[in-house]
Amino acid sequence: MKINALVAAQAIQPLRAGQVEIRDLQANDVMIEVLYCGVCHSDLHMARNEWGVSRYPLVPGHEIVGRVAAVGDNVTQFTVGQTVGVAVMVDACGQCHFCQQQEEQYCEVDFTPTYNGIDKYTGASTFGGYAGEVITDQNFVVSLPDNLALNAVAPLLCAGVTVWSPLRHFNFKAGDRVGVVALGGLGHMAVKLASRGHFIYHLT
Ligand SMILES: [Zn+2]
Ligand SMILES: [Zn+2]
Repeated sequence: MKINALVAAQAIQPLRAGQVEIRDLQANDVMIEVLYCGVCHSDLHMARNEWGVSRYPLVPGHEIVGRVAAVGDNVTQFTVGQTVGVAVMVDACGQCHFCQQQEEQYCEVDFTPTYNGIDKYTGASTFGGYAGEVITDQNFVVSLPDNLALNAVAPLLCAGVTVWSPLRHFNFKAGDRVGVVALGGLGHMAVKLASRGHFIYHLT
């Protein structure tokens, strides 16, 4: 299906409103109407081909918040109208040691990035959340509580989880000291999360 999106046509051009083709809804897919999408610095690197791997046209955006617009026949975890998010991955093999441990970022086959990846159904590029809609496998969609400010939730899906993950991994708890290197888009979130150490403790 065709969707409206902000499209980088080349590394040297600004993003422009346009259209791209994404896969049609599959049995395990959730179609999401995008409400908000964070701007991660990776989006700029990729739009400008600063890592030398960008394929055009490219639609950035991997901090996606939206509402479920449709679900495939096998989808059990989500219903139409629900508030959901999509982060940096939209697929992985699901079979390897790492996928079985829910560490798809280390997938031995390789995970599919939300944009500039290869859609396993079509072989074409994946496109991100600077768009009206995204279609994503249900296993890579997260449910979001409705009582949060959804615009503020979006950056948690990449910048936030990147600093949240080590705090959880190393089991920090109230009273522990943490060091944060640099107070940029990620670092300031690390300080905010770590300064609520009791909150982290109760979740572990
Ligand atoms: Zn990011
Ligand atoms: Zn895997």
